[in-house]
Amino acid sequence: MADYTKMWEELGLDLEAHAKLLEALPPTYYDVYLKQENRPQNMEYFDFVVSEIHGLRVQELQEFRSSGGKVVGTFCVFVPEELILAAGGVYVGLCAGLEAGTAKAEAVLPRNICPLIKSFMGFKLSRICPYFESCDLLVGETTCDGKKKAFEVLGDFAPVYTMETPQKKGPGDWALWLEEIRALAARLEELTGQKITADGLAEAIRKVNAKRRALRRLAELRKADPPPISGRDALLIYQIAFYDDVERFTAQVNALCDELEERVRQGVGVVPPGTPRLVVTGTPMAIPNWKVPYIIETSGAVIVAEELCTGSRYYEMLTAENGAALGDLMSNVALRHLEPDCACFTPNSRRLEKLVTMVHEYRAAGVVSYVLAFCDPYAVETYQVEKSLKRANVPLLKIETDYGQQDAGQLRTRIQAFLELLANNGRVAAAGSKS
Ligand code: SF4
Ligand code: SF4
Repeated sequence: MADYTKMWEELGLDLEAHAKLLEALPPTYYDVYLKQENRPQNMEYFDFVVSEIHGLRVQELQEFRSSGGKVVGTFCVFVPEELILAAGGVYVGLCAGLEAGTAKAEAVLPRNICPLIKSFMGFKLSRICPYFESCDLLVGETTCDGKKKAFEVLGDFAPVYTMETPQKKGPGDWALWLEEIRALAARLEELTGQKITADGLAEAIRKVNAKRRALRRLAELRKADPPPISGRDALLIYQIAFYDDVERFTAQVNALCDELEERVRQGVGVVPPGTPRLVVTGTPMAIPNWKVPYIIETSGAVIVAEELCTGSRYYEMLTAENGAALGDLMSNVALRHLEPDCACFTPNSRRLEKLVTMVHEYRAAGVVSYVLAFCDPYAVETYQVEKSLKRANVPLLKIETDYGQQDAGQLRTRIQAFLELLANNGRVAAAGSKS
């Protein structure tokens, strides 16, 4: 990576703390990603993006800002990227998947709060994230109580706008949500000084849909046995989707899919045929949270799909492209962004149905429920997940963890025992561990 010290200094980063953060990444990345055998060649682009994670993309954002552009940070898939693009802004996802700045975060938050919230607060207060420091506005939401209150705290340190997200999907909720979408559009126009027009919004919808279509194509290819790409690599791509340039990213995912199609045609996989296939469901895995996928895939299994916001909830639904009037397009955006089956909704039965369908479509032998510690919505909903999978006769492993590595050994033991159980039940061949 080139020397970006001047840029980081100008952004006000704590250079010493930031250097420590960057030092931690390469060895982890080597173990989790580069050591994998038989990776698709087109993963090179995504490796490059990670190698430049705080460099090139941040520099692009600074160039955009110096020409008058505005960068908007978000924390949830409910916040429509289309609106930000249509207002002339750039969208970056700020959810963080690393234990950092904990002491500073705990000075303003309770200790027992979900690691995702603690992490983004720690990143901001410790001034170690150039993306946070590049944002002209942060858009929060009221999806869970922890986030809702944390955004009030964050408002003391950065400009924050909070959307009210409904908790049900009835007609009254829809009316509220449409109003929230319109209010966000007005706030974005105020920020960028650019009116959202019907043409601009239609174009933004097409661009973001193209990104989702590319990710759907990738997901489809993972149905093959052997899968042409690992779950870890797929997760990395979903994570990068939140901050890379939309059109460049879409082109790169499609180039990768061309290669994967060829692999599937030739029967080339990233693991041997018959490797136990798992679906992961639960809380999002923000970059660089790769702990559980790494343990699963170095214990003899492969992840073939993710019912996560860093997974199917991000790309499965497209925004409708019909309608020429701005009001119609705005409704399309609102409709699409009330779709993700987040555990903040009640009831959330469609998530359970989709999960069972996913298990069948991806020919998975079992499901891993991944819940971040202190995440009440997902932790409580695990009861429903378990009940529904039991009814469908699908084995489930429940994991609750955080961003630390202290439980890595214990998690490996539990995952290996789960794979043995699948083998004993005749669902898969006996699993052997590999690195
Ligand atoms: S899990 Fe819920 S709150 Fe979190 S990003 Fe997804 S939709 Fe948003
Ligand atoms: S992981 Fe759970 S507790 Fe944490 S921000 Fe998301 S919904 Fe809220």
